[in-house]
Amino acid sequence: MEKVVKHRPDFDEIFMELAQNLAYRSHCVKAQVGAVLTKDTRIISIGYNGPPAGTHNCDEEYPEHGCPRDSKGSCSLALHAEQNAILYASKNGANIEGSTLYVTLSPCISCARVIYSMKIKKVFYWKSYAQYKGIPNDEGVDFLRKFGVEAVQFGENA
Ligand SMILES: [Zn+2]
Ligand SMILES: [Zn+2]
Repeated sequence: MEKVVKHRPDFDEIFMELAQNLAYRSHCVKAQVGAVLTKDTRIISIGYNGPPAGTHNCDEEYPEHGCPRDSKGSCSLALHAEQNAILYASKNGANIEGSTLYVTLSPCISCARVIYSMKIKKVFYWKSYAQYKGIPNDEGVDFLRKFGVEAVQFGENA
């Protein structure tokens, strides 16, 4: 009998797709970003951008003009997806050192500093933060690479 040939996704595809789905959970009006933190092909945490749990829901509170912006035009209330994923893992005592992060938008410089400090070893990102922001350099990616964290753009967007 002939076997139905199915695409067998590798873990990178599975985790990035999960990050993309998680992005849709975000209440933020402008950017929606998802993140998955893994170790040895197991998920240790997930996150998406938004204000800390129990504080604001940007889309419900600011339906017309969107959330209040910081000087860089980002939501001033939100934790970034990476931060939410890392904070949750850290709060629950997961061993983050040596883990791999999948995120739908390349990390901003402040997330890059956190990623480096937590000794995450590799970051897969889908879209470019610099492109999204219209700024010349992906400073978060540059920072990670400069200090020995592997940063790889994922899929056909590369
Ligand atoms: Zn917001
Ligand atoms: Zn960030």
